[in-house]
Parts: sequence; structure tokens; C-alpha cells
Amino acid sequence: MKDEILVDGSMGEGGGQILRAALALSMSLGRPFRMKNIRAGRPSPGLKRQHLACVRAAGELCGAEVAGDEMASRELRFAPGPLRAGEYHFAVGGGGSATLLLQAVLPPLLTADTPSRITVTGGTHVPCAPPFEFMAGTLLPWLERMGPRLAATMSRPGYMQIGGGSVTVSVTPAKALVFGTDFAEAAKNEPGPTLETEALVYAHHLPDEIAKRECAALLSPEFAALGLSDSSICVINGRNGGPRPEGAGNAVLVKLRHRHGITVFGETGLRGRSAETVAGHAACRALRFRNSNAPVEKHLADQLVVPLALAGGGSFVTETLTPHCRACLDVASLFTSLKPELHPVNGRKTLVTLR
Ligand code: AMP
Repeated sequence: MKDEILVDGSMGEGGGQILRAALALSMSLGRPFRMKNIRAGRPSPGLKRQHLACVRAAGELCGAEVAGDEMASRELRFAPGPLRAGEYHFAVGGGGSATLLLQAVLPPLLTADTPSRITVTGGTHVPCAPPFEFMAGTLLPWLERMGPRLAATMSRPGYMQIGGGSVTVSVTPAKALVFGTDFAEAAKNEPGPTLETEALVYAHHLPDEIAKRECAALLSPEFAALGLSDSSICVINGRNGGPRPEGAGNAVLVKLRHRHGITVFGETGLRGRSAETVAGHAACRALRFRNSNAPVEKHLADQLVVPLALAGGGSFVTETLTPHCRACLDVASLFTSLKPELHPVNGRKTLVTLR
């Protein structure tokens, strides 16, 4: 294939993020790529069902020529055609993450000629993926600062293994993504004091005791600085209304509102992980972020790299630089002429610039 960009999937942390970033950039810029060593850094390398779902969804959106899109494949060729915005329904299958699929397909739609409405069925609260509330409450408002208008709804949650959750994102595109004053101000300046803290505890088809112990952990003296109270924690178990998922699942989300918006810290329950650990991880991450006084949370950082690259560059200060973020920066510099610059800020924080 002509002008094919070679992406090494073993760079950085060697995970699925490299593939999703490459798909998004390839579709947005109309540049074909070949990826080798797909997910080489993971215990079971190659394409898994959820990554294949991303490749197929991306392929459908732009009529791509695709080779190597098979289970466990470690090499993929993707040559995008013209993007077709519109109404799409994608299924990840099982508990594969619906929000991760959106990570791959959303960026090109942000500047398409016409609006889109994308519905994805799959997991909405699964390990190692953005929970729905993070995408809707944290990521999308940051993307809106670049120009497009976005709205997300979850009609049903979905958990590990069974999935079956459903998320819809509506996109009113902008002419171009812009790293303007609104984004730049929020991305560089301290978020200031926390204006409000809330928590959500999802506990479907599980004994009541799990949610009770998670609420107690969130209210324990260890996390008193978060300022949570009984009235600021909402338990969602399907018995107090709302849609019920197909399978059992548990997640804890702590939401901090500050002058830049809302940052969501999510943790999912797993067999063998205590309720106290699940709630404690979410609360600890929220406290650490607050104490860092950085505007951009570490997961948000890697998810802003592709849109920033499509805006022609920009910068932000993140609480801590992750291998995911480094990998996304490397992929962005393969597809564009932008180069990443990293500068430490007061200890752990990093000023990330794509120039
Ligand atoms: P990978 O591990 O390569 O499949 O990438 C996982 C993606 O999910 C990255 O973009 C992470 O930033 C994102 N992610 C993982 N956990 C969370 C979380 N708790 N909140 C928000 N995003 C997350």
C-alpha cells in the first residue's frame, strides 16, 4: 500500500491504546497504516474481540480496506476510504468496553461534514477502560472545548463477561478542532479547590452488603478530605429504578467538580477484590489528583493526545505521565509532523506539548 505508516504495537506499554490511536488518526487524516507486534506488551498479545470490534467499526465508518483483522492477529493493514458520518450501531460483544470502541471512532467524526449518532453495546464499567461517567462527564466536555458539541447517554450499564450495556454519543461536528484559549487556559492552570464531591456505587445483582461496605469505605476517616456524606453518595442497584443490566457487576465512581469541570475516578469490582479495595482505589486516586493540583487527570491525558494532534498541536499539564500517554504521543508523531516535548512541573506533574 502507498505511503503506508508503520506502527510498532510494542512501543510504550504495548497495549490496545496504540491500535485505537492509529485507527483514529488514520481515519481522520486519510493515511493508511500497517501495524506489527499488536498488543505485544500484554499477556495474550494480538487482536482480541474488543480490538477487532474497533477495527471493524472504523472500517465501516470509512469503507477501509483491511487485512489481518482476525482473532489473535499480530499484524494489521488498514487503508481508510472517505469518512461517512451518520447513524451507526456497533456491538463490542461480551464485556468488551463500549467506551474504548468510541475512543477509536469518535475523533474523525468531530470534524466530519455532517452530525453522527453512534450507539455501542458492550461493557460500560469494565476494568482498564474509561467508565461511562468518565467519558460523558470528563472527556467529552474537554473535547467540546476544541469546538464540537457532544452528548452521551447510557441506556443500560454493562459489566465484565456479559456486557450488554448501551451507550449513545451524538456529535455535532466543528469545522476543525482548535487548541484555543478556552482549552489552553483549562489545560495549563490549576483546577483550584474542589467545589463539590459526589460518588456513585453501582452494584447490580449482588448482595446489599457490597454497596454498604463501599459506602462505608468512602465515608471512612481516611477519605474525609474528599468531603463525601451519605447524601452525596448514590447507590445504583436497579431496585431503586433505572435500567438493569444482564449480569452482575460493581463499580465505584468518585466525581470531583472544580472550576475546569468534573473529573471522574472509576474503579470496577472484580472477583477476589474486596469492596473496601474497590472504593479505596477510587477515593485514593481522587485525593492524589486533588493534591497534585494538575488540571488533567492521568487517563484523560492519553485520551487528549489524538484530538490535540488533529488540532495541529497544543499542550496540557497532567498529574503524572503514563506509558499510555507516551505511546499515544509516539503514534501521533508517526501520523503528523508534530513532536512531543515533556517538561517536569513541580515534581510529579508534566507539561506535555505536541509542537
Ligand atoms: P489499553 O490498556 O491500551 O487498552 O488502554 C486503556 C485505555 O483506557 C486508556 O486510554 C486509559 O487511559 C483508559 N482507562 C483505563 N482505566 C481508566 C479509568 N479508570 N478511567 C478513565 N480511563 C481509563
